[in-house]
Amino acid sequence: MTTTTNPTPTIVLLGAAFSGIPLAHKLLRSLPSEYKLILVNPSTHIYWNFAAARILSKNDQFSTNNSDAFPPLIPGFSTYADTRFEFVQGKATALKPEENVVVVTENDDDGNVGAVREVAYTHLIVATGSAAADGWPFKSVGSHLQTQRKIAEIHTLVEAAATIVLSGAGATGVETAGELATLYKGSGKKIYLLSSGDRPLPMIREDVGKAAQKQLESLGVVVKNGVRVSQETEKDGKKVLVLSDGETIEADLHIPTFGLVPNTQFLPLELLDETKSVKVNKHMQSTVVENIWATGDAAGVKDKKSITVKPMLETVEHNVLAAIRGEDKTKWKEYKEEPTPILVPIGGGFAMGTGILGSWRVWGFLVWLLKGRSYFIGNGKNVALGKQYPGGGKV
Ligand SMILES: Cc1cc2nc3c(=O)[nH]c(=O)nc-3n(C[C@H](O)[C@H](O)[C@H](O)COP(=O)(O)OP(=O)(O)OC[C@H]3O[C@@H](n4cnc5c(N)ncnc54)[C@H](O)[C@@H]3O)c2cc1C
Repeated sequence: MTTTTNPTPTIVLLGAAFSGIPLAHKLLRSLPSEYKLILVNPSTHIYWNFAAARILSKNDQFSTNNSDAFPPLIPGFSTYADTRFEFVQGKATALKPEENVVVVTENDDDGNVGAVREVAYTHLIVATGSAAADGWPFKSVGSHLQTQRKIAEIHTLVEAAATIVLSGAGATGVETAGELATLYKGSGKKIYLLSSGDRPLPMIREDVGKAAQKQLESLGVVVKNGVRVSQETEKDGKKVLVLSDGETIEADLHIPTFGLVPNTQFLPLELLDETKSVKVNKHMQSTVVENIWATGDAAGVKDKKSITVKPMLETVEHNVLAAIRGEDKTKWKEYKEEPTPILVPIGGGFAMGTGILGSWRVWGFLVWLLKGRSYFIGNGKNVALGKQYPGGGKV
């Protein structure tokens, strides 16, 4: 193990995606000049996972190999001096909070593991996000090449499958079912969507979920409500899925679309809540260790979306700077959770989709216009470069 001693006051920021990139740029603009920022991330490119439902369903949906979904993040940092900024391609693999040291294992674009470094910090910010169930690439799975290879494997499986079961009918499940059903309409593929609630999108208002169900059924999706997969076995190359209502479905492909898991496995358990998110107070500061902060999907907040990363990371930025200046905590910023809109495209066809904005069920036409046509993929480049927030607005 090589050890990096760090006499320079240092912010170590773990995770460079929708939360980490804008936060890094904001801090680099306002930290005292003696401070250095070290950004750690396994990939040199972001993954525009907003569009994962469409990207996973077929290749070349947006551009050749969907390359638009993987814009590079390193050029955005080219203007900062080496004494102020360092990017480490790798992952945090352990933490020693009593020594203010995080252990980082480096990797290359192919996912080959490299040196293990101990990096000392003055403040540590956890922006490591979350991963999808069973390593499905609804979120990045490592470097951009690793994520792209995983997506290519899925294209082969989708193409070959006659029966596809999606378990989990939140936004990811509904969007993916809609994309698959639209792309493969008339091909004979049978697509099931299982919801454990009494409708798709059970986390939002009933009429929105019912609208989603109607649109999915119009595309030929079989929507089954009030069921879960209680057992999965393999027989003759098929997935045999026993559902909680006793029905058995033989599928060629089972796509779990539920259960994002925070990427916090490297943190001591006492820092985490029951969902394995970092326990934070209203200042987005760890409730256990004062110089540890969290933002985005890794933080213990209820509403985890790209739209909520902006107020969260601005809270962290403000308070880390205030802590460095020794400002009284009464002047620190507080993060308040507020209701956020949700837009769920269903297949990208005209007027296909639903959602909620305040108390208004958004017209399908508007969901298609705003999101369904392209899943905002054109914004990815500027988000990767740290110019724009993922939910819109200048950084
Ligand atoms: C299919 C899908 C569609 C979505 N669509 C929308 C949408 O339309 N609108 C919306 O508002 N939200 C959407 N979301 C939610 C949104 O993707 C997340 O809220 C957002 O990605 C959170 O950003 P983040 O930077 O906190 O975490 P992430 O995006 O998960 O990024 C975390 C980064 O940290 C890295 N990392 C992981 N472990 C480590 C480690 N140990 N050390 C260092 N780095 C690490 C990861 O590789 C990654 O680069 C969607 C989610 C899914 C799954």
